[in-house]
Amino acid sequence: TCVMNRNYLCYNHPFVSSTISSNSGSPIIPSSLKELRLDGYLSSKNIDHAASDFGNIHHHLPSAVLHPKSVSDISSTIKHIFNMGPASDLTVAARGHAHSLQGQAQAHQGVVINMESLKQEMYFQKGEFPYVDVSAGELWIDILHASLKHGLAPKSWTDYLHLTVGGTLSNAGISGQAFRHGPQINNVYQLEVVTGRGELITCSESRNADLFYGVLGGLGQFGIITKARIALEPAPLMVKWIRVLYSDFSIFIRDQERLISSEDTFDYLEGFVIINRTGLLNNWRSSFNPKDPVHASQFNSDGKTLFCLEIAKYFNPDETDEVNQKIDRLLSELSYIQSTLFLTEVSYVEFLDRVHTSELKLREKGLWDVPHPWLNLLIPKSRIQEFAEVVFGKILTDSSTGPILIYPVNKTKWNNRTSLVTPDEDVFYQVALLSSAIPSSTGKDGLAQILNQNQRILDFCEIAHLGVKQYLPHYTTQEAWRTHFGHQWDVFVGRKSQYDPSAILAPGQRIFQRAR
Ligand code: FAD
Repeated sequence: TCVMNRNYLCYNHPFVSSTISSNSGSPIIPSSLKELRLDGYLSSKNIDHAASDFGNIHHHLPSAVLHPKSVSDISSTIKHIFNMGPASDLTVAARGHAHSLQGQAQAHQGVVINMESLKQEMYFQKGEFPYVDVSAGELWIDILHASLKHGLAPKSWTDYLHLTVGGTLSNAGISGQAFRHGPQINNVYQLEVVTGRGELITCSESRNADLFYGVLGGLGQFGIITKARIALEPAPLMVKWIRVLYSDFSIFIRDQERLISSEDTFDYLEGFVIINRTGLLNNWRSSFNPKDPVHASQFNSDGKTLFCLEIAKYFNPDETDEVNQKIDRLLSELSYIQSTLFLTEVSYVEFLDRVHTSELKLREKGLWDVPHPWLNLLIPKSRIQEFAEVVFGKILTDSSTGPILIYPVNKTKWNNRTSLVTPDEDVFYQVALLSSAIPSSTGKDGLAQILNQNQRILDFCEIAHLGVKQYLPHYTTQEAWRTHFGHQWDVFVGRKSQYDPSAILAPGQRIFQRAR
């Protein structure tokens, strides 16, 4: 259903299906649900925000938003809907910080649960295996600040910290630490989950393990995470943050792969692609210092595509000499363009919260709340060269619509029992095309053009049988989901019928249809 109304724009594009929906004429919240005794409240007024997300492409209006003040608000609401059986077709979506890209946290005419309302005090456990118990609606940035007061911090991050624990654990949570610690879903000891039957279950590796692993990377399909026990480590105070450039892709990836294969390496490793852009090094100068200012100022890319390796080493001020020596040694083993070594030293918080600084700048220019047709792919190491030749060499003509991240991770460090789907090789690359579209543009920075480009990339991957998997996956047919999950599909379906048999949860993922 794509109902045009004044509030929502309809992008009439083949890759954007069922974009806009309103609720006119569909008052479907049953009075029995409205009469439930809650610590928080259920509201059908001023709920337009629940039809939006960071992607800003899909807009599905719910019928009501639940603002829970207790876990039992969530379990009694879901239990009530579940017990209504075929009499109801209501669905329920947990909404974390709504930084989804394709309506995944929305529920067309259903109930959206505003997870950030569910605040509980964080509980810290110190000792050999320190952890923190947090509410799933907690933002990672707030967990960071609270943990630092105990000299601790989570081990694995996302690039941007204004995301909720429940939202990233439903996907994976991948950033430059994932090559050594695995993604965020690898760094959780225990979860508290409300299933699609409304039951509250505590699960971990040793207790209700099937639900635990199902929910991690489970796209919200088996339960709503209400609490998580996150692994912590001693937090460093400072970070040496380094960027170097390559013009040869095979040398760039050889160095990246070498760095992630050793224990004696950096604490963070990412990379990005720069296509047909000038003046970039000048931009870096506001926050990075060239090691060799004279030669850096003479560096000229001649319009070539460049590959930037971004690495970081954590340290405390009393270890400065030692860490400098180590960095010099690690850098001496790499083959980047010598004049392009840029360094800076920042606090650990500044480093981890780096994308928020860009957010503030983009917000000032009105460029944050625009459509974001992002494409995130996981690509087997054996096919990355081929992918780069076609995608960076032929399909993309520049990287002006947004950053293009590329970095390898080591799957041997990842737990393969979670619901996350990855390529079939031990090392694979995360490639993130993080485009922003200019709303009224019909040119190459317009939504339709970027979506076309994304589709060309996906088509190429499919035709060339690269064995690519989408991260933050988005498909519109169950057949495509089945292909995505491959041999994991049967387990996924089995868990769905066990934990959410009526397909009430996370309808915005469009994997299962609510049973009537
Ligand atoms: P939402 O968008 O609110 O929800 C996402 C999905 O999870 C929905 O289906 C929702 O129903 C479900 N859900 C939400 N809360 C719960 C819960 N408590 N229990 C069960 N299901 C739940 N990802 C990375 O891995 N690495 C990155 O570096 C990274 N950087 C990003 C930077 C930006 C600027 C943005 C916008 C996104 C980035 N992401 C990254 C993607 C991000 O991790 C996901 O979009 C994530 O889902 C966002 O969290 P959220 O709290 O906004 O979730």
